Amino acid sequence: MSSARIQGWCPGALRPMLAEDGWVVRIRPPLGRLTPAQARGLAALASSHAQDTVEITSRANLQLRGITDVDYPVLLSGLQALGLVDTDVRAESRRNLLLAPFWQAGDGTTEVASALALALNAPQAPDLPAKFGFALDFGDTPVLRTNSADIRMERCDAGFLVYADGSAIGARAHRDDVVAVAMALAQWFIEAGGLATPRKRMASLVASQPLPRRFTTTPVPAAAQHQPPLGRVPQGYLAALEFGQLPATTLAALAELAHLRLTPWRSVLLEGMEAIPALPDLITRADDPRLRIHACTGAPGCGQAAGATRPLARALAASLPVGQTLHVSGCTKGCAHPAAALTVVATANAYHLIHHGSAAAPPDGVGLTPAELATQIQQRLHATPL
Ligand code: SF4
Repeated sequence: MSSARIQGWCPGALRPMLAEDGWVVRIRPPLGRLTPAQARGLAALASSHAQDTVEITSRANLQLRGITDVDYPVLLSGLQALGLVDTDVRAESRRNLLLAPFWQAGDGTTEVASALALALNAPQAPDLPAKFGFALDFGDTPVLRTNSADIRMERCDAGFLVYADGSAIGARAHRDDVVAVAMALAQWFIEAGGLATPRKRMASLVASQPLPRRFTTTPVPAAAQHQPPLGRVPQGYLAALEFGQLPATTLAALAELAHLRLTPWRSVLLEGMEAIPALPDLITRADDPRLRIHACTGAPGCGQAAGATRPLARALAASLPVGQTLHVSGCTKGCAHPAAALTVVATANAYHLIHHGSAAAPPDGVGLTPAELATQIQQRLHATPL
């Protein structure tokens, strides 16, 4: 592996990324779902060949880290045997689909996702950037509007609405042409210069280029911001995880209960379950303080981190009121959250505090120790409810 080290990529299973704590492998389970056999097998692989925790990412993928050069080939062949790896790097990197986890049989989600994955891997498919993704959000009410995606597909009357991220207007489509319409929008992204925009994302392009007429015919309906639920939902039972981290032992226990759907909200949906046994790592109550904190890997796992993140976030969680969010970031990149009410950024020997801003925003408090941070956060909460 050492000669093939690749850094700065969105990691996959076939193209891992090197971090301070070893190789990082990201898995895109087909249709965002694990069968019991896949979940059981993945838990065993994580225990034997990686740090024994599986992370759920903000795009509802899975990540394993801490993998050695020796373990990687064994892990990869185990993942391949479980049906969790695409045939080649091209197929893996292009299948960037986020499915609303509340899909139901017959609503078109799994069929459209499968057809879209094939279309994206066709020889004539546009060469899209690594982070370019599609959201398939076919419930009666959209739930993925605040999740990262470049092309959004939603239900519209008896058919579908396809629109560019950043646009309030789109194109209607039917079941038999919805994939072709989405691919046409992806093709326009390339032809209109999307690769030359700073972030290579659809919203940047839409801000500077008019959309083709076809994608300006149907307004995107307004929808209330989705609040990810916990507990019983019509499709099963939702349980959240602190920082999206699913210990291998917990994953193995869940494998004995149901098929699992991954969500982009650091949670798993256990299909068809009305209740689940109490497991210490699962969060099932909306007032659990662990839901209020976000933190990236931080030091020592990430080479760009100036300090540790998760222990500090955990220590500060209990002092945050319900509904309050705190993001602790190892550097100004802010991987774990775009902009929480309170953001703490590690520096070489202290922390900065930002009030209502991203990790890259100018700090409101600088050079703080953890104790000073706790005091300042309390003072701010009492002075101005955030
Ligand atoms: S925010 Fe910075 S420190 Fe944290 S994971 Fe991202 S790059 Fe690493």
